[in-house]
Amino acid sequence: MAKTVTTKYEVSEHLRTPQEMAAYLEMCIEEANGDAAFITKALGNIARAKGMSQVARDAGLSRESLNKALSGERSPGFDTILKVISALGLKLHTEAARTTKLTAQLTPIQPIAARRLILALAERRNMERCSICNCILHRTARTYAQPSPKGRSHATKHHYVAERFFGRSANRKDTKHQGVFDKCLWGYEGETAVFCYECHEELLHNPVFLPEEITLFAEITKRRGLSEESKSKDRSRLAGRIELLHEVISKGLKAVAKMKATANSGLENNSRKRCAHSSAPQRRR
Ligand SMILES: [Zn+2]
Repeated sequence: MAKTVTTKYEVSEHLRTPQEMAAYLEMCIEEANGDAAFITKALGNIARAKGMSQVARDAGLSRESLNKALSGERSPGFDTILKVISALGLKLHTEAARTTKLTAQLTPIQPIAARRLILALAERRNMERCSICNCILHRTARTYAQPSPKGRSHATKHHYVAERFFGRSANRKDTKHQGVFDKCLWGYEGETAVFCYECHEELLHNPVFLPEEITLFAEITKRRGLSEESKSKDRSRLAGRIELLHEVISKGLKAVAKMKATANSGLENNSRKRCAHSSAPQRRR
């Protein structure tokens, strides 16, 4: 009978540079979900890649106690962990938690793809991302936003406060018409953020207002004395309505931010599906 020869996949053989080691450790910490043994084993893999004897010497431990500490079968002391990390030539750092895992954005992880994954992770960490949806943006020469998945992530610059409010537009250089505001009310004139084409054009520039919402907004407009029967040269009422809409969005955002994350997340609740599957749109009460 033919004998099947299998070789064990050795992560340590694929950790060749300090950058790869750091990216691998970061990935393992993200994937560990609090499993300390998993992280300890990852440290063991990096130590093997560097050479156990050398790491033991640099950490001031015997080889035997280093082996035991990184076996994943016991919980080594935090001081030992710190010594090992330092001996590995790595540094611990912290940052605010992300809501999605780096690896969750990748296609299913195959052990054989570990090296490619490590490199991709290191690369992705430094990539420019959309300020809203966090997608990786692309800025390649001679390409523009297109309906393809890649084209939808085309980087676009967005002015927080529209230039036209001040009578200017980058599209019409050296022309200035009458602005709505003389000075930015919020102090962000000329400041920009980078978004994907999708979030910029299809989300920010096209807010959805249903008939009852327009009616309500019109009522508040009237109550605030911002209605106008005929247009005058003075555009202060428009300025007031712009300010009012900003107030509505800002206060609404803060109210939504306080809600539980599960209340409105997930594609199952997505209005796109509601629109696609029912002839009569459902209204929230
Ligand atoms: Zn986006």
